Amino acid sequence: MPIVVLKLPDIKQKREERPKRCPYCAGGTFQRWGQVNKPVKDVRVRHVKVYRYRCCHCKRTFRHYPDGNTSADQTERLRLFVVLLWTLGLSHRASSLILSGLKVLVSHMTIWRDVQKAAQQIQRHNHWKPVRVLGLDGANVLGWGTKQPVLVAVDIGTGEPMAVGYINESDPQAVRRWLEPLVQRHGITVIVTDDLFSYKIVAEKLQLGHQVCQFHVRRWVGKTLKELQETIPKQWVWVLEEIRQLIELLPLEGSKTLYTLWKQLPGRRSLPRQARSAMEQLRDLLLRLSEHWPNYCTFQSEPQIPWTNNATEQAIGRMKMRARTVRGYKSWLGMQAGLLLASSSIL
Ligand SMILES: [Zn+2]
Repeated sequence: MPIVVLKLPDIKQKREERPKRCPYCAGGTFQRWGQVNKPVKDVRVRHVKVYRYRCCHCKRTFRHYPDGNTSADQTERLRLFVVLLWTLGLSHRASSLILSGLKVLVSHMTIWRDVQKAAQQIQRHNHWKPVRVLGLDGANVLGWGTKQPVLVAVDIGTGEPMAVGYINESDPQAVRRWLEPLVQRHGITVIVTDDLFSYKIVAEKLQLGHQVCQFHVRRWVGKTLKELQETIPKQWVWVLEEIRQLIELLPLEGSKTLYTLWKQLPGRRSLPRQARSAMEQLRDLLLRLSEHWPNYCTFQSEPQIPWTNNATEQAIGRMKMRARTVRGYKSWLGMQAGLLLASSSIL
């Protein structure tokens, strides 16, 4: 669930204080120029009193709206309420129905526009925000109206999603092109990912610190060790236990330890085209872990860096929950905005 702050803005039915500046010429003296009883769409009030003023300087007239109101039919409170309903999982049509129960008629298209507008506000808010640690993860969900792979970027510090893109995470060039402007704009210095090789390349090219999610590593290493347990000669089983210990404790010198183990193993015997034997698979595992080891331990250098990519997975989980109502979106931009809003917690 997104953490939603349930604070709807107050709506004033009239505004006592006079305008300070003319919206046209910035003049500061006015004559009152009549008043209107403006009907509004809101959950509590039906009308607000709006005074008209005439600028003594430029002679133009304008409406001075009470707080929480604009020239739009809806109050700011209703607008936020609508976005809230949508974020909690209602479709545009269902939100419209609930409002009609409160005797407020708002079409589902208006609700769609309000949701889009709120999403754009969040995107603007996030545009220049400094982000030190960024989580990245692919999310392949057919329900999102696309068969293309989707990549999600999350501010690890706040759990806020920063960007969603049609990017194949296995393609280092595509990831790099997409990531580079984000890195520059937000001042990102560390990325947290699973251990796909493409991320390692991208982190090196963009000179970013890199933490590989240890949930992922534990999952696949655990599986590999279990398989090897059955297949390697008994006198080498102790090596598996050593690896298990290292993954558990993540000591900084793990890379060296793994390399030393690798050197103790008998060398490659099979020809390049032959299937690798169990011992050769163990050798490959040791070498791979040894090479990636520094990226398993980046989190030990700074407290802001997590050792898993949990925050990113949670944001993607929130997006998946909302996929049902986002599915109908025709444009990718609309969908992207919806997904960012759906998993955002700053409403
Ligand atoms: Zn004026």
